[in-house]
Amino acid sequence: MQNIQKWRIEASDMVKEQIAGRDVRDPRVLEVMSSVPRHMFVPDERAGDAYIDRPLPIGECQTISQPYMVAKMTELLAAGPGMKVLEIGTGSGYQSAVLAAFGLRVWSLERIEVLAASAREKLTSLNFDVTVIYSDGSEGYEPEAPYDRIIVTAASSRIEPAWDRQLALGGRLVAPVNVISGGQRLLVREKTYHGFRNAWHDYCRFVPLLTGMKGL
Ligand code: SAH
Repeated sequence: MQNIQKWRIEASDMVKEQIAGRDVRDPRVLEVMSSVPRHMFVPDERAGDAYIDRPLPIGECQTISQPYMVAKMTELLAAGPGMKVLEIGTGSGYQSAVLAAFGLRVWSLERIEVLAASAREKLTSLNFDVTVIYSDGSEGYEPEAPYDRIIVTAASSRIEPAWDRQLALGGRLVAPVNVISGGQRLLVREKTYHGFRNAWHDYCRFVPLLTGMKGL
């Protein structure tokens, strides 16, 4: 019991200091970020660090994104309840849980089988309704297309044609993209009747999007 309260206090401090304390304003995002138990998505030995302002290692040379970045990307998605979302890069499953808690229907793709399996198990045990698929996300996931929103949580130098195709008209994609000047920036890309419209946001640092799959 005491443990439950402790994480809720930590999560609420995290939201105040790191998220609302920066520039995330959407009250729905702030609420969801304080309701999802981030400590359940990090390795046991790092649970004590779950609410600090940092990405953390989750094995397989991958990381759970920094809380601020998860909140920022969720806000930039500007999604409404019931929308269909495709996530590329399940990792720990934390971002997927945040999206599900937001009321979205989530399909999430992961190219490393052990991460896909452990995220799937965790999400199910915590009752988050997310479909995790072990696959190379550069191809998107055709069977459920089109998606109202696509969120990419690994960085690449281009937007994959499959993502553009599988995005619904009026839909929006948020992705970290390598920029020529160095580093990465969050791209918000909207699919309109007149083609795609891009807007560039925060600098960020994500692990790279890789091709192919890595089995057990
Ligand atoms: N959203 C995650 C962040 C994970 S880091 C979280 O909240 O924890 C990015 C993840 O993208 C890694 O797990 C990595 O294996 C995965 N990834 C990289 N390239 C990929 C690809 N082509 N298809 C699917 N997943 C990919």
